[in-house]
Amino acid sequence: MAKLPVPFEQLTREFGPHLAYEPPGGWSGRGEPEKLVKTHCCFCGQGCGIQLKVRDNRVIGFEPWEEFPFNRGKLCPKGVKRYLQNNHPDRLLDPMKRVEGVGFVPITWDEAFETTAREIRRIQAEHGPNSVAVLSGVSLSNEKSYLMGKFARLGVKTAELDYNGRLCMVSAGAGNKKAFGVDRAAGAWTDIPLADVIMCAGTNVAECAPITTDYIWRSRDRGGKLIMIDPRVTPLARTCDLHLPVRPGTDSALFVAMLRILVEENLVDREFVENYTSGWADTEAAAMETSLVDAARITGVNLEDIVRAARMWGEAKSSFLLHARGIEQHTKGTENVLSCINLVLATGRIGRPGCGYGTITGQGNGQGGREHGHKCDQLPGNRDIENPEHRAYIAGVWGCDESEIPRKGHPAPVIMEMIHSGEIKALISICFNPLVSLPDSNFTREALSRLEHYTAIDFFLSETAQHADIVMAGSLHEEEEGTVTSGEARVNRIRAAVTPPGRAKCDTDIVLELGRRFGQGKYFDHFKTPEDIFNELRVASRFSTVSYYGMTYERLEKEHGIFWPCPDIGHPGHPSPVRRPQVPHRGREGALQSGAIPAKCGRTRRGVSNYPHHRPGGFSVSKRDSDKAHRRARRPMSRAVRGDPSGFGSGVRNQRQGLGSCGEPARIGNAPGESGDHDSPGYGLHPLSLGGKKIGQPPYDPRVRSDQRDAGVQKSHRPDPSSRSRRSRADYRRVSAKSRLPRENGRKIQELS
Ligand code: SF4
Repeated sequence: MAKLPVPFEQLTREFGPHLAYEPPGGWSGRGEPEKLVKTHCCFCGQGCGIQLKVRDNRVIGFEPWEEFPFNRGKLCPKGVKRYLQNNHPDRLLDPMKRVEGVGFVPITWDEAFETTAREIRRIQAEHGPNSVAVLSGVSLSNEKSYLMGKFARLGVKTAELDYNGRLCMVSAGAGNKKAFGVDRAAGAWTDIPLADVIMCAGTNVAECAPITTDYIWRSRDRGGKLIMIDPRVTPLARTCDLHLPVRPGTDSALFVAMLRILVEENLVDREFVENYTSGWADTEAAAMETSLVDAARITGVNLEDIVRAARMWGEAKSSFLLHARGIEQHTKGTENVLSCINLVLATGRIGRPGCGYGTITGQGNGQGGREHGHKCDQLPGNRDIENPEHRAYIAGVWGCDESEIPRKGHPAPVIMEMIHSGEIKALISICFNPLVSLPDSNFTREALSRLEHYTAIDFFLSETAQHADIVMAGSLHEEEEGTVTSGEARVNRIRAAVTPPGRAKCDTDIVLELGRRFGQGKYFDHFKTPEDIFNELRVASRFSTVSYYGMTYERLEKEHGIFWPCPDIGHPGHPSPVRRPQVPHRGREGALQSGAIPAKCGRTRRGVSNYPHHRPGGFSVSKRDSDKAHRRARRPMSRAVRGDPSGFGSGVRNQRQGLGSCGEPARIGNAPGESGDHDSPGYGLHPLSLGGKKIGQPPYDPRVRSDQRDAGVQKSHRPDPSSRSRRSRADYRRVSAKSRLPRENGRKIQELS
């Protein structure tokens, strides 16, 4: 019965999001801290070091941690407010159950565990083990990610497990694995300041990964050039050397055209591609079939600028490529990623100082969270769940029979479809807010309301958790020991600064107890601390491409993090996994493990022509992810950040005038300066935290089932009724008929108006 027990407004009054509050003791009377705890910011995948000030078991502030090498004490506007979560008035302090007409009422932990175990087992007895799904999140630590994979497969015994990275950078991961055989940045951030040219594709670095901006500026200070590829004039695009305002969804056409120019102008590093790559001839042939005039027409970028970009990139001595969700969250996200990696391979700018490639990780453990086995097709160590050798190895680590490990399950969006269709009848979720994160909030809401049982583990009552039958009050990063892995694949140690407030429990303890209540204590009883889980994770990742085996908590603290792979005790770790010529290559001895994959010139499904306005989904300087946590710190944060006064990102003026989103007529960014500091005509940012409503079927990358956000065509558009496209007119009628705002969105807009 996963329906709201009382109206949404009542739940919001009681559980938030409440926007403003003061830290314990007020802004000025907090007193001296009893201790400073060195840990890491969890608000994005940069993993900045921070010292938390602790007094009376409460986090009361922070100090910079200047010795930590990645950020040297610097923090962004999100980071300086992250400590406010620990004492936030919306924090869940008790386990609760849903009571129709009353809301959520506190219960004992025993009742919460017993109800969950009883309902899950009842449903599985009636409908089979896979009638229960587990949804997990990549803001969890590595230990929790690993534990969730083991818990779902051996505790719940379901194949239907997936994670919210599916809605984030899974296309980047797939592209990395295809091109390099490993899923991580192929270079450390310390190479960025040494690069002569930096190209950023689909990434609003200054707002979404502000500390990386510093690395880029260090390159520019010594004369480095910056190419920005983005439909919007983002803050870095305002001052870059060359801005390519590519139409949403046409990125690969741009990259393939650039590759053709590199070939034609003899800017390809022949020695490199012949000795260190495979598949180059096919890639080059595909590029040469591409018409540059067509590419310019498709992308909307002047041909002269495409040529300038290719020459700037091709003639440089060193270069670094960064990309993010702007090219990844598309129906052809994997192909976009591969086509821009091809530019790196064409010029041999990898595996040497000042050269490299990286994808800017989003969520707090976006990198580590996709390595340890809570993806539907993955076992720990980024192993393949269908590979017999991989299954046998993990069965050995887990002490189970190989046949006990379920086979491959379904990606999160498909799991939601299976819930909607009634195939899946129960859900356990942790740190995943699909009602906001998935592309179609109405569909997800309907699906959740059809569940027979839903248990949510979370620290705030998210929009999704409002539909739960049982809510288990969980923990924050600073309330548990563990590790996270940053976007450059540096494994960092996070420290427990305080214990969870009230009767809230550590997530790890909750999941371990659930494992016992499901009668599978033999697989979980040996975990007494998160370090025990980490030690098993190390063994589980051993002999894989993602080996953590040589790392210990002690080493991670002493060495300020270690880059994986770290295959042996005493191994220093690899800041770059592809330093040539040491890394073996598939096929050629002594060469890099890198394969060029031909990419086609084309555009994302549901391209641009039928929609006069585009609102690519994304994050702003004060918001990211489903924003369950950040939005609760919005007001104090927003005061500090000029240019994002409401947290809505660009397009704010029209939103506040009530012109609306989600199908209502909207006037967004039609003239420069009309709707925010960094708009481009016809484009505005749609913060992903607003949720969305579909126009037509939600589109996905067929390779990885990641959704299409950053083409910005499935949300918040006013389709042109005069369009000749039949599909467009049908979409327009459908949208017009349901043009009221979803409740959550309307609520947020009212609160801010
Ligand atoms: S850049 Fe990311 S990790 Fe660093 S302070 Fe900002 S939100 Fe935190």
